[in-house]
Amino acid sequence: MSPALRIRGGSVLGRAGDAAGDVTIVDGRVAAESPPGAEVLDAEGLLVAPGLLDVQVNGAVGVDLASEPERWPEVARFLVRTGVTAWCPTIITSPAATVERAQTALRNPEPDGAAAPLGLHLEGPMLAPDWRGAHPPEHLRAPAPEVYAGWSPAAGVALVTLAPELAGGLSAVAELAARGVVVSVGHTGARPTDVRAAADAGATSATHLFNAMGPLHHREVGTAGAVLSEPRLRCGLIADGVHVHADVLRLAWRLLGPERIVLVSDAVWALGAPPGEYRLGDTTVVADATSVHTTDGRLAGSRLGLDAGLRTLLAAGVPPTEAVAAATASPAALLGRDDRGHLRPGAVGDAVLLTPALEVAATVVGGRVVYRAGDD
Ligand code: ZN
Repeated sequence: MSPALRIRGGSVLGRAGDAAGDVTIVDGRVAAESPPGAEVLDAEGLLVAPGLLDVQVNGAVGVDLASEPERWPEVARFLVRTGVTAWCPTIITSPAATVERAQTALRNPEPDGAAAPLGLHLEGPMLAPDWRGAHPPEHLRAPAPEVYAGWSPAAGVALVTLAPELAGGLSAVAELAARGVVVSVGHTGARPTDVRAAADAGATSATHLFNAMGPLHHREVGTAGAVLSEPRLRCGLIADGVHVHADVLRLAWRLLGPERIVLVSDAVWALGAPPGEYRLGDTTVVADATSVHTTDGRLAGSRLGLDAGLRTLLAAGVPPTEAVAAATASPAALLGRDDRGHLRPGAVGDAVLLTPALEVAATVVGGRVVYRAGDD
């Protein structure tokens, strides 16, 4: 039996009728009642939210998961500082052997007090060459059964980003979805008919809306217009203030709201690492104060955590409850995890305490306080 924790006096989000009240965690789960002798965590003046869930994290603290997938526990330990308690380690376009290494590495036990990996997000290699962004062109592959033969939730794959318009793309969508893998269209120039066909085949998401996809033009719907108007797709959104202009972010929010927006960090090794010039595979990438880009100016992921995304939404006028939902309930629904993304009894006992400005004050994993701002 692990000791019980009572988070007292905060304003609780992620419960029916967000309201003042306590959240009690017993044996790693949210409980309806607080047993005597529970440890108390004071949340007076703070918001108490479910632990954040980030479905797109490529690395942090100097670790690039596509180069060294075995080092995922270091990233998992860091993420709790950003309020993230569950995540999808993300492997960008890589050789098949790297994906297999990542699948193997994910079977290693989780470190204590770290963010739980919920399965890999394989972003590539079945992407459109014209929309590859910073992905290495030499490792792109056309969709073919042998590329995705070993990919399933049981084999550690939760989410796959692919371009459905490629030959064989729709078969890949259908086959992966049938196995229970969440399929997201991304790095794609898909036309509206392709996007609709992908949703028909079982795709339920679009990866980083607006970034690395065909743009919306008022006489040419484009991929972005098509995913926006396809109600069966949730849309990942990088709200670091760099990848999407604040006004466009506001427009997307008005269209999609927290039901369809899945806030992601798309964080890379530079999250939690000092600015500078780094080698990433065969490329040189530069991290400045707010962004990461290649020397020829392509954005190469973000250096801000998911908590920063909450603050970007807040600055855009989104109410805190809704911003938090886009980083909790929405990604949990995308992954089909009804034990996460809320704080009702029975939920996984992960929580984040946020200031009214949505700064992380403390993070709780399984009923244990694993991070407190100012402790370091
Ligand atoms: Zn991407």
